[in-house]
Amino acid sequence: MSNVQQNNSANAGILAYSIIITLLGIGIIVFSVLKDWSMGAYVLGGIFLVAGGSMLVGRMKGGLKYVKLDCPRCGHSQTFAEEALDKDRMVPCKSCDGYMHRDANGVHPVSEDTIADEPIFEAACPAGDFQWPSGCALCGKPHTSVESVEGSTFHVGAVSNKRITLTCNIPVCDEHKGQNAVSIGPGIYIQGDKDFSIRFRSYRACVNFRTLNPTEKRTTTGAAVTFGRQ
Ligand SMILES: [Zn+2]
Ligand SMILES: [Zn+2]
Repeated sequence: MSNVQQNNSANAGILAYSIIITLLGIGIIVFSVLKDWSMGAYVLGGIFLVAGGSMLVGRMKGGLKYVKLDCPRCGHSQTFAEEALDKDRMVPCKSCDGYMHRDANGVHPVSEDTIADEPIFEAACPAGDFQWPSGCALCGKPHTSVESVEGSTFHVGAVSNKRITLTCNIPVCDEHKGQNAVSIGPGIYIQGDKDFSIRFRSYRACVNFRTLNPTEKRTTTGAAVTFGRQ
């Protein structure tokens, strides 16, 4: 168990940032009027005003608060946005990748028996061929069939943008066919080859997949902004 503390410097930073963006937006609009600038300047000012203003409103409502916590498994000290740890939400440690959750008493490791309602437990997709752990991807009992799951990531390139699709045959038992055992797509916290993350409802299946397919872990930049990954 570990304690959670408010990360005051990050909280103050995000507040200052939202105020600056809001003021910048107001400033650009005021100057647009005074100096008779083009329509583009109004639009730019408006974008800053909406972006900064909505962050400010969110911050005042108690959102976008950052908390500091120590991983209950490896002890690594890290920062998350408070809403990433809201009731029933689970996040991976930024060092050991073990999932943790928070309750009134602090932060605890997620039990390997955990089955989430949605595929949320992420494993980085390895480059090239990879193996599925034996047994149903949801309950671990001997698999009796496979189901095809497809996902895609989007890459913005210098010359052209392209969508990359990955299709996998997931081992499942009769009972868990069509039960959303696995999903494939861009990772929220952890991603691998071509930004793909393989996501499981069963935490044990996710851990087994990672063990079978060791790969260099990458963290996502989107999560760095939204959930305070460092
Ligand atoms: Zn850890
Ligand atoms: Zn099953």
